[in-house]
Amino acid sequence: MQIETFLEEHNQPKYRLNQFYQAYYQKLITDFDQLTVWPKSLRDQAAKQISLLSLKPIKTQVSKDQDTIKVLFSRQHAPEQLLEAVLMKHQDNRNTVCVSCMIGCPMNCAFCATGNMGFIANLNADEIVEQVLFFARELAKTQQKITNIVFMGMGEPMINLTATQESIAILTDKNKLAMSPSRITVSTCGVITPLKKFIMEGYKGRLAISLHAPNQELREKIMPVAKANPLPKLFKTIDLYTKKTNKRVSYEYILIKEVNDQIEHAQQLVLLLKYKLAHVNLIPYNPVSNQSWQRPERKAVYAFAQILKEANIAYTIRVTMGQDIAAACGQLATSKQS
Ligand code: SAH
Repeated sequence: MQIETFLEEHNQPKYRLNQFYQAYYQKLITDFDQLTVWPKSLRDQAAKQISLLSLKPIKTQVSKDQDTIKVLFSRQHAPEQLLEAVLMKHQDNRNTVCVSCMIGCPMNCAFCATGNMGFIANLNADEIVEQVLFFARELAKTQQKITNIVFMGMGEPMINLTATQESIAILTDKNKLAMSPSRITVSTCGVITPLKKFIMEGYKGRLAISLHAPNQELREKIMPVAKANPLPKLFKTIDLYTKKTNKRVSYEYILIKEVNDQIEHAQQLVLLLKYKLAHVNLIPYNPVSNQSWQRPERKAVYAFAQILKEANIAYTIRVTMGQDIAAACGQLATSKQS
């Protein structure tokens, strides 16, 4: 049962709801007993009818450098279904949570571990937010906070649009987590129809596009989504976002040895992005089991980046975090042995 319905059914005044929001989203309580501003009888009744924890952590892995923490969760109402979320503690004091919006993913991108496991289920908004709350509670123990959220875990946010939008509403609500929209990044492989809806309905956060290929033909080879969502039409939709928000778009580009890492690919990428408000994130391919691809040599990564530099296209080479615990980009997959 939802807390809103519960309070209505018990004829409670409105301020009780705000008391709850404050305790749950800001003081990070996990138990109604901690909601001491409520009368004890109300707390007891709520505890009987509502579960505050929609996910159960079942395994935590910490990278050697301690900066990346990956948690495997099981869904409270479907315990055999597992998902992962990752906390990245950056050197500059940002604490970023990478959330999943699905278990598995239907997009089947050839290079992605989650894509390779297929689609299992959509998560709801509470389950997406719960991943953030979990890490917020951990960080609170050392007086730290979550500063950024990226929808770059398992799943495609545009295919679970309602839950994605609802979770962002909770994260940015002043009475709930009160995060600034500009601290939130939604990453998509480019599903045009829902992306357009998302933008037109007023998304104010940051947008990342998983591009990964600089031309339609190559993109179709490695990303099945590309066929029905061709690049020119995708860029028209992205232009809408730029017009509405005036924000720079991040383009994610995995560099895969001898697949999309050649000089000519960099030159094509320049032509695609030249007049756009764009930032390219070059991500050296992270090895995924059962895939025979390789990460390019350092030299090839720098040569690719140099072409972007000469064309004045902003870029970063993404530092891979958490590779030793398979928490890096594209490595999230919830097999039994993970
Ligand atoms: N479905 C969304 C959200 C997932 S984001 C999207 O596609 O954007 C996951 C990020 O990790 C994406 O940029 C994805 O392309 C990248 N990724 C996937 N597999 C990877 C791999 N093997 N190595 C490096 N990055 C990878």
